Amino acid sequence: MSADLETIVAEIAAEMAAVPVARRGVPASYIPELAKVDPGRFGLAVVLADGQVHVAGDADEAFSIQSISKVFMLTLALGKIGDGLWARVGREPSGNAFNSIVQLEAEKGIPRNPFINAGALVVADVLLAGHAPREAIGEILQFVRYLADDDSIVVDRAVARSETETGFRNAALANYMRAFGTITHAPELTLGVYFHVCALAMSCRQLALAGRFLALDGRHPGGRGRVVSAERARRIAALMLTCGHYDGSGDFAFRVGIPGKSGVGGGILAVVPGVASVAVWSPGLNAVGNSTLGAAALEQLARRTGWSVFAPP
Ligand code: GLN
Repeated sequence: MSADLETIVAEIAAEMAAVPVARRGVPASYIPELAKVDPGRFGLAVVLADGQVHVAGDADEAFSIQSISKVFMLTLALGKIGDGLWARVGREPSGNAFNSIVQLEAEKGIPRNPFINAGALVVADVLLAGHAPREAIGEILQFVRYLADDDSIVVDRAVARSETETGFRNAALANYMRAFGTITHAPELTLGVYFHVCALAMSCRQLALAGRFLALDGRHPGGRGRVVSAERARRIAALMLTCGHYDGSGDFAFRVGIPGKSGVGGGILAVVPGVASVAVWSPGLNAVGNSTLGAAALEQLARRTGWSVFAPP
């Protein structure tokens, strides 16, 4: 490492702050509430395996984590029904947009992976089993609070409402999968769980803390036992690397070399196994719906620290 981490994090934040807003991509507007977010925001938080935290920019401002929640939902669903989940959702990159419906017909309603919308709707349907939607949402919220060790994390109700009112594509996906039986509840119930969990509001610091179990091979950061087995933590990270950025996953792996999961709120959670959990936020998105500056910042971080899952130990 050429400079200490505190300096690297501060330098990257300063470099990103200098990028004109016009060159940061466009914040998501298909969820009207997200269009209100200031595109000039930038936050970065790095939590090392030993608990040291380095933050810069707007790292303590909560934003809508959107699809990053798919990591937490998947983890919880695997805990609930184990590897039986893979009978209902695949593990291959889709090569299509995050909200695409096109593969579902040929593939009999089984989504390509749990990190696209169709796949996460199936995961939400699994988490809904045996619960009222309110209870399922509460369980997922408690899980994220436990991971981050922070009870102040909440669902942004305005964002959830905004997406409920406009989420016609997700409604189409849920209804289509209900016809195949991969969604088992009334679609509006499964959608309710999905929209509320996407609307979790978290800061970069909270998100990096919540993702730390993946950098710790599945162990709870607070020394409170295991969240998941080492094998499961590694497999979730593998899915983040191959599917975490939709049809931008290959480019992200090439440029950053670290498993990451993006959301249309402009956040990215990235994990360096054994080393660190990183969260970055910049609302401007590229053409495939991933944070433009977020990926650029992670690319710089990986380059300057030497972090990569492809580096020799
Ligand atoms: N809630 C968003 C949606 O369903 C999540 C998508 C995303 O973050 N890529 O469209």
